[in-house]
Amino acid sequence: MSHLEIANAAVEAYGCLPKRLKVPEDAWSVFSSLVCTKPGERYPKALAIGIGNRCVGNDQADKGGLDIVADCHAEALVGRACRVLFLRSLRKLCCHQHEIFLATLAECSFHLVVSDSPCGDSSIRGIVSSDTSQATHATNWSGAPLLPISLLDERCGSGNNKISMHYDSRDSQVIGCCRLKPGRSDLPPDKRSHSLSCSDKIVLWSSLGFQGGGVLASLMGKLPLHSVIIMADH
Ligand SMILES: [Zn+2]
Repeated sequence: MSHLEIANAAVEAYGCLPKRLKVPEDAWSVFSSLVCTKPGERYPKALAIGIGNRCVGNDQADKGGLDIVADCHAEALVGRACRVLFLRSLRKLCCHQHEIFLATLAECSFHLVVSDSPCGDSSIRGIVSSDTSQATHATNWSGAPLLPISLLDERCGSGNNKISMHYDSRDSQVIGCCRLKPGRSDLPPDKRSHSLSCSDKIVLWSSLGFQGGGVLASLMGKLPLHSVIIMADH
């Protein structure tokens, strides 16, 4: 099945949403969808849609007792929606049906469709001149800061488990580094997002699966992404 057919399935699913869930015509946002294809089935199926390009600052994300979704970028919302979908589906099914459901999922391929290049490394690219259609030496600025050592220590532990990485502001546009979500450069540190960039999350999903950890990982195994489709600008 072609990538165009898969992207069309995502766009058609968006077209079926009620107007209140769509982006107003005078606004702009990022659209993403997780689409599944199955051998023998002619049409791809959109499992989830996410729309958004905002992130909550760390000062707001860490409110005890409040259930706040810190990362509202479209790709992260799609990953979250799929995990909710899987959990709800499994809760409705009896043990025997679980096996059928999981066997069906194992036959499927999963494709992430995004309307723009994901933030982080994927947004670091040569800028093409509209006059000559040639790539220039200019590079698109990702705006996604490198993951600070202090956060690496917090997330990966210290001592023997500590990950040693080299950081230098001159490397800020170098690809292959872990990054946080981009944000306004004038924000104080506590108001900046501590969520990983979408590029880094997609790398995690591609290698470890987008089903997440915990119960779903042990029940479902690994559901990796088969492809990431970036839609062309119109
Ligand atoms: Zn993003």
